[in-house]
Amino acid sequence: MSENKIPYKIYLSENEMPTAWYNVRADMKTKPAPLLNPGTGKPLSAEELTPIFCEELVKQELDDNTAYFPIPQEILDFYKMYRPSPLVRAYCLEKALDTPAKIYYKFEGNNTSGSHKLNSAIAQAYYAKQQGLKGVTTETGAGQWGTALSMACAYLGLDCKVYMVKVSYEQKPFRREVMRTYGASVTPSPSMETEVGRKILAEHPGTTGSLGCAISEAVEVATKNPGYRYVLGSVLNQVLLHQSVIGLEAKAAFDKIGVKPDIIIGCAGGGSNLGGLISPFMGEKLRGEADYRFIAVEPASCPSFTRGKFAYDFCDTGMICPLAKMYTLGSGFIPSPNHAGGLRFHGMSPILSQLYHDGYMEARAVEQTSVFEAAEKFARTEGILPAPESSHAIKAAIDEALKCKETGEEKTILFGLTGTGYFDLVAYQQFNDGVMTDYIPSDEDLAKGLAALPQVPGQD
Ligand SMILES: *Cc1c(COP(=O)(O)O)cnc(C)c1O
Repeated sequence: MSENKIPYKIYLSENEMPTAWYNVRADMKTKPAPLLNPGTGKPLSAEELTPIFCEELVKQELDDNTAYFPIPQEILDFYKMYRPSPLVRAYCLEKALDTPAKIYYKFEGNNTSGSHKLNSAIAQAYYAKQQGLKGVTTETGAGQWGTALSMACAYLGLDCKVYMVKVSYEQKPFRREVMRTYGASVTPSPSMETEVGRKILAEHPGTTGSLGCAISEAVEVATKNPGYRYVLGSVLNQVLLHQSVIGLEAKAAFDKIGVKPDIIIGCAGGGSNLGGLISPFMGEKLRGEADYRFIAVEPASCPSFTRGKFAYDFCDTGMICPLAKMYTLGSGFIPSPNHAGGLRFHGMSPILSQLYHDGYMEARAVEQTSVFEAAEKFARTEGILPAPESSHAIKAAIDEALKCKETGEEKTILFGLTGTGYFDLVAYQQFNDGVMTDYIPSDEDLAKGLAALPQVPGQD
């Protein structure tokens, strides 16, 4: 069979690695809507953003036109410690599914943070260091972003203050220890340390927290401490830019074996891995050079794309952050403690939101137990224990492969395997014990969050 000429793993050599990030906004006809100042309702200027974010990152955030940003040498050197990540042909999964589809995954879990988040963490920490800052503050949900940022800060000698969503802080004590080992301080959020934390606790005593709360706290600490800036692990344009390294490598590896994917699938929390994976392929689609199907997969418990509204909203619960136009469930939406912690955000990347709104991308929501069934199948066939977040993409990839089995189509499917699940064993335990539940918010639950969207002139 000539098919077997394609190896299990397609690696790039170090000198085949991308040397510039790709900015998909450059090829978008309708650009993502600008961030707005919540006070004035006007687009935020660079001057207004620099007290919160590092200068170079503000430039990247606001640049809709430059297609390629060279990756600084120090970041390239760091990337070489754990990249290129392999593109893997899932022969064993294909066989188990008895499908004519060809399944590939891009595996980003091969570093200590256990996810793709390190790709942007090192970039953001690098620009903070360049600017002569003392340190950075951030939020973390499941803990992968906090871990990635601690690693990057340790490497560059920066202080790192992490506000960790309380439910994860309690469920994942070992994550916390990894971050502390890399020198970060970790505070459960909401905390009594910040004004906004105290306010949220007064309004919602006993809350298990949310990414939105933790963001508010981290931003407050960054703006009140000289020499500190806030960094965010997803959603922002700059993060999708850094994560384009995933898609650029995947495309280079496919080009090497002369294969073109038909369907590209990723899980979507704030949209950074999906945005990064699809960027170069989406660029081809936007320029009319090729066509692909793109599928975003989100949890049914936090369905921003599939049941949210495309509107301006706050990125945080404390309503101190800029307004972003995105698919959102409302910044007051506190999702049920679903185990896919990294996908529990009320909003979505403005870039992906615009692309979805313009019909370049599909989205679907999947339920937790079906996600763990897919995770189990994947672990048993391909060997890797996947993160619950990543398993959303696995679930959709399996579903697409099974459709191919019905129709006999030999489609090529690529999905992003964003990370490993070693810190998610409480979730696996619930699944194995048969006590995992599928929470789906009712229309009324969602209506409450959507009713609280901010009033912005010109928005219906
Ligand atoms: C954070 C995370 C996600 C979701 O974040 P995106 O910004 O949507 O990519 C997915 N998988 C893993 C393993 C994560 O850590």
